[in-house]
Amino acid sequence: MFVSKDLSVNEKNHLVIGKNDTVELAKEFGTPLYVIDEDLFRENCRVYKNAMDKYYGGNGLVLYANKALCSKYTCRVVKEEGLGIDVVSGGELYTAIKADFPMDKVYFHGNNKTVDEIRMAVENRVGTIIVDNIYELEKLNEIATEAGIVQNIMFRIKPGVDAHTHSFIQTGQIDSKFGVALENGEAFEICKIANEMSGVKVDGVHCHIGSQIFDIEPFNKAAQVMMDFIGDLKDKLGMEVGKLNLGGGYGIMYTENDDPVPYDEYIQHVSEVVKEAAARRNVKLPFILMEPGRSLIAPAGITLYTVGGIKDIKNVRKYVSVDGGMGDNPRYILYESEYAAAVANKAGNEPCEKVTVAGKCCESGDLLLKDVMLPEIEVGDTLAVLATGAYNYSMASNYNRIPRPAMVAVSNGEAKVVIKRETYEDLIRNDL
Ligand SMILES: *Cc1c(COP(=O)(O)O)cnc(C)c1O
Repeated sequence: MFVSKDLSVNEKNHLVIGKNDTVELAKEFGTPLYVIDEDLFRENCRVYKNAMDKYYGGNGLVLYANKALCSKYTCRVVKEEGLGIDVVSGGELYTAIKADFPMDKVYFHGNNKTVDEIRMAVENRVGTIIVDNIYELEKLNEIATEAGIVQNIMFRIKPGVDAHTHSFIQTGQIDSKFGVALENGEAFEICKIANEMSGVKVDGVHCHIGSQIFDIEPFNKAAQVMMDFIGDLKDKLGMEVGKLNLGGGYGIMYTENDDPVPYDEYIQHVSEVVKEAAARRNVKLPFILMEPGRSLIAPAGITLYTVGGIKDIKNVRKYVSVDGGMGDNPRYILYESEYAAAVANKAGNEPCEKVTVAGKCCESGDLLLKDVMLPEIEVGDTLAVLATGAYNYSMASNYNRIPRPAMVAVSNGEAKVVIKRETYEDLIRNDL
């Protein structure tokens, strides 16, 4: 009955996550509350890792795209699972440093890294920097040369592949702010320039075609195009790049309308494409990197809210307001994203009425769910919004000066706070 097979209902008719009663969690830690099922998060890491071993002889590394949910806690879990991470800002890098993440397994992305961020990455010996553009390449070469090191880099390439997803999260086409394009020769040119530089070594090429993608085909197509590019670099420049980073973007189930492909299937298919292309183009089999973010953490997260005012506007709509909203989950207001939900304290009841769940911010677009069927809902109920592990906390804001919620991780019946709830004092900390 729930989108996630890892949620269940106990004898009190309460929703259960990771053997924890969510109503008890709400009572103990307060609401709104982010809850992460750590066992599921770890299991998801293993699905990718095992598939890389099984289908590609382990000749690869899975990176957790940290931006999906970045914290010292997630860095620690990912490190324990043997994955690498990708970071996209100095702040994410700082978090990884403070979590003692092995720097050789850090990949630094971003379409406009500042000079300070590039310097920070070089000084901390970040394993690989994914260079976005020529300006960044020149800056990086300067900084690395000054520091007396040769920095491993990859280039962010736009493979020209159309991923069928929301235009805001489509990134593989030529009209994108990310990376350099193949079709106008820009990508080839930048590799040629970097090949002559002494402060950088072109270690691989990277692409990321978008997010929340359900088809295997665009990923296969991207892998094909990228392998041909690797072939061209070898044939025309004598450059051998040993790594192929295929990005992330694997879709997850938010509602029953979503039908994701099992994640190991992506690796299975892409492995075949890469092996075939390597043979055809007579290049070495590359070391493969993948960067799932959403699919590792989103399904493992839920958010618990307390229901406040209910407005039944006859023949119009029934609004149910909760004690959070766009501050802790801005995805509806950004993309009109859809979610599934449960009334945690009557989780087994049949859905019987159509409601719209609104947040408490001063925006009419501050909704969490629009026109969803739920069991009869009353003031004081605990509402659980499902699959909120990715792009919720990491996109959260303090709009209306609402403190960010706490986050607890649950595992085998145990719950621990991994991010403290913000206080009002936190909100004014930097006010002078
Ligand atoms: C956002 C992003 C990812 C992760 O995307 P998901 O859809 O969360 O899997 C991976 N790589 C890059 C470069 C990204 O920008």
